Amino acid sequence: MCSQSCPTPKTSVHLLNNLFSMNLQKTILLIITLCFSFFIKAQNYKCLPCGLDCDKEVFTKAGTCPKCKMELVPAASITFKNMETNKVCEYIKTHPKTILLDVRTKEEFEGSADPNFGSLKNAINIPVDDLKTRINELEKYKNSEIIVYCSHSHRSPRASYLLTQNGFKHVINLSGGMSEMKDTSCKK
Ligand SMILES: [Zn+2]
Repeated sequence: MCSQSCPTPKTSVHLLNNLFSMNLQKTILLIITLCFSFFIKAQNYKCLPCGLDCDKEVFTKAGTCPKCKMELVPAASITFKNMETNKVCEYIKTHPKTILLDVRTKEEFEGSADPNFGSLKNAINIPVDDLKTRINELEKYKNSEIIVYCSHSHRSPRASYLLTQNGFKHVINLSGGMSEMKDTSCKK
């Protein structure tokens, strides 16, 4: 009944196996593609941290924040931590090597501005607008913990972001800033 061209049972199994492994490969490829496209789609954006409420909003596309007009950056690129003002003095006491970076103007830092919120002992002053050009002054602190502060935490998140984007690994933004500091034990 069966001619010479008819496959032997052994060949059929072989063919079936081949078909199965081909499908398996396709399935795996499909899963990888799906995961990848999901990852691309799942890329979230946030506005370049400016300390305003819109910092918490999540966008699905790059562009500009409709509220503060700041550039939208990948949410995953915002890696600095935040610290409450009531924790900072204690933290400095227990971590004396922490670098303190005041990103306000020279006048605010020195206390000649009105209002004067004071500044932290042993802080370094680099105004936020100068940070990009003066970042080399902080080169030796790339692996140190750096607490970044200003008056109301509107400038320090942007400065903190800039530092992390330039390879500084342990950056902490002081939430609320000097205007909310009640503990005076680490103030100048
Ligand atoms: Zn915004």
